[in-house]
Amino acid sequence: MTELKALCMKDRDANNKPTMQVMTNVKVEEKNGRYSAKGQCAKCGGNMFKFMSKADAEAMK
Ligand SMILES: [Zn+2]
Repeated sequence: MTELKALCMKDRDANNKPTMQVMTNVKVEEKNGRYSAKGQCAKCGGNMFKFMSKADAEAMK
């Protein structure tokens, strides 16, 4: 499976901006023709959510 990264709202940098973290337990969902991924942050375990293109979603299968 491809490694997926998403912004984590809990892991922030020195400027208090969300940072890109690896998403684990990724579940790809399709709703009304839009693709999204749900998972957990590998660093802090917080929930993550990310919209995906169809091509990205297909690559996760
Ligand atoms: Zn995190």
